Amino acid sequence: MTIHERRHLRKDRNQCAGCGDFFNSTRAFEKHRTGLHGVHEGPDRRRCRTPAEMLAVGMAKGQQDFWISEPRQDYPAQPPREAQTEAIGPPPRVG
Ligand SMILES: [Zn+2]
Repeated sequence: MTIHERRHLRKDRNQCAGCGDFFNSTRAFEKHRTGLHGVHEGPDRRRCRTPAEMLAVGMAKGQQDFWISEPRQDYPAQPPREAQTEAIGPPPRVG
């Protein structure tokens, strides 16, 4: 059994029992978990998202390394990937 870091958790903050990451809210934690309840194998299995996956779904690291479900409200919203690519055009040549 892995020993995870222990923290005093206030209010809605929580720690994932699966991977030990910390979350600023239940909502953030729910977003961290993916797959289907009761499924233990295959692509739909219930599991933790990796940090890269959490970033991909719009989550972010907030204060004191607590994951938040989405960036702060005053954070500039990013346009959808397609629109972004269209606006910027092909990536610049390197070298
Ligand atoms: Zn987890």
